[in-house]
Amino acid sequence: METKILMEQAKKHILHTYNRFPVVLDHGKGVYLYDTEGKKYLDFAAGIAVQALGYGDPEYNEALKIQIDKLLHTSNLYYNQPMIDAAGKLCAASGLDNAFFTNSGAEAIEGAIKAAKKYAYEKDGSTDHEIIAMNHSFHGRTLGALAVTGNSHYREPFEPLPGIVRFAEYNDLDSVKALINEKTCAIILETIQGEGGIYPAQEEFLKGIRELCDEQDILLILDEIQCGMGRTGTMFAWQAYDVKPDIMTCAKALGCGVPVGAFVLTKKVADASLKPGDHGTTYGGNPFVGAAVSKVFDIFAQRNMTGHVKEIGVYLEGNLEQLQAEYGFITARRGRGLIQGLELSIPVGEVSTKALEQGLLVITAGTNVLRFVPPLIIEKNHIDEMVQKLKKVFDMF
Ligand SMILES: *Cc1c(COP(=O)(O)O)cnc(C)c1O
Repeated sequence: METKILMEQAKKHILHTYNRFPVVLDHGKGVYLYDTEGKKYLDFAAGIAVQALGYGDPEYNEALKIQIDKLLHTSNLYYNQPMIDAAGKLCAASGLDNAFFTNSGAEAIEGAIKAAKKYAYEKDGSTDHEIIAMNHSFHGRTLGALAVTGNSHYREPFEPLPGIVRFAEYNDLDSVKALINEKTCAIILETIQGEGGIYPAQEEFLKGIRELCDEQDILLILDEIQCGMGRTGTMFAWQAYDVKPDIMTCAKALGCGVPVGAFVLTKKVADASLKPGDHGTTYGGNPFVGAAVSKVFDIFAQRNMTGHVKEIGVYLEGNLEQLQAEYGFITARRGRGLIQGLELSIPVGEVSTKALEQGLLVITAGTNVLRFVPPLIIEKNHIDEMVQKLKKVFDMF
């Protein structure tokens, strides 16, 4: 009853841009969430790959509580230590040099695009530079991020979108080559396509793009917003390849629940692109989110989170492959570590809704993929429980 009333109120006052699941979530503990009626859910969605540490981590929560009492916000006109600490840890973890903190993933993409455009502008003084992006990519919902998102359904009503963007096929190097010209300033892609259906970049593809970029001084922007922060078993997914981006975007699990993103540049790009006055944000990297990011990196290091993901990821992968062997409607498994997808020939939306009824949160990607992006702290028993619940759902089809 309470859920129904709350849902009616939501309908009245919240802009209807989401078809939400019929549940009002209330609190969480570890890898479990509870709704306002006390029902328990095993969470394999993690607020869309955000809650890497799950819910109610005492050490993380304590750090935020201390920061709330100390200082929440100062603006970017002054220095604050949490942001300085966070930037140092983000740069150390990525091997990149200069970070700019944003309030979301889309804003990190906006900043990355601006940096790439400014870099090209500094070189030749012209403004008609082009960007190559990928079909089936997802980079966010603001106009600039949408301009590099390869999904016509998201784009069409808002066209014309800013800048000249050409779309290549993911994992098809020749299709990228064919689009490069003297105006190309950047190539942007997700190291693993998330929303598009969990497609990891092939090693030759990523290496090939890196070579093309090096040959022509084109900037490689890797979007690690979903696949980064330890999810694949390395801190950033590209670290498992023999490549390094010129600009990386990060968000989602960067703050493990507080709204924060970042774009991070090599020194070479930083020194030759955005200068004082070129970019800004009122909130970005304020002491509160800075304290969160800083603590997240500490906890990841102390608890060897990437080592845990490497181990548990193999177990998840094995279980998903077992499911694939059992159910004929599972047509593929893709992913790495704790970002996994099962491609289904039955309606994924229905599977996801029925899973909710069984007390399992699992979301979809693309049109036919069931997406698994659990908190990174999951253990084998949680995977066993997920498989049990999912089998109950699969048996209904
Ligand atoms: C979620 C996501 C974004 C957008 O992040 P927001 O915080 O929703 O703006 C961009 N790129 C990728 C790969 C994402 O998964």
